[in-house]
Amino acid sequence: MPTIFSKIIAREIPSEIVYQDDQVTAFKDIHPLAPVHILIVPNIEIPSVNDVKPEQESMLGHMFIVAKQIAAEQGIAQSGYRLLINSGDDAGQEVYHLHMHLVGGHNLGPLLTKHH
Ligand code: AMP
Repeated sequence: MPTIFSKIIAREIPSEIVYQDDQVTAFKDIHPLAPVHILIVPNIEIPSVNDVKPEQESMLGHMFIVAKQIAAEQGIAQSGYRLLINSGDDAGQEVYHLHMHLVGGHNLGPLLTKHH
């Protein structure tokens, strides 16, 4: 079963794709948590960070290059932004197709709420 993100990458379901090349696709999060909220996703299905392989190192690094370019295009390179990758249940990962969240456009506050 392809993930929902694979269907977006294949353009089988609608999405606002902002960038695509032979390695990664970036599209707007359907439930944005900030003025800019974009997901940067490998075109191949990697379920989570636990599943990355050494031979994927250059593609994974490429995700940062794409993130930087999109941040500049979105006008938030100087104001600042956050890159986030959730892995597993405790992080609240919902879609098991590795993705980097790029969020920004206002002050994002602290990274996490304090553990009690
Ligand atoms: P995570 O909790 O890190 O797995 O994040 C999954 C993200 O995917 C959430 O922020 C969702 O809003 C987003 N999402 C789920 N389905 C879609 C979709 N069809 N198009 C765009 N974003 C989506």
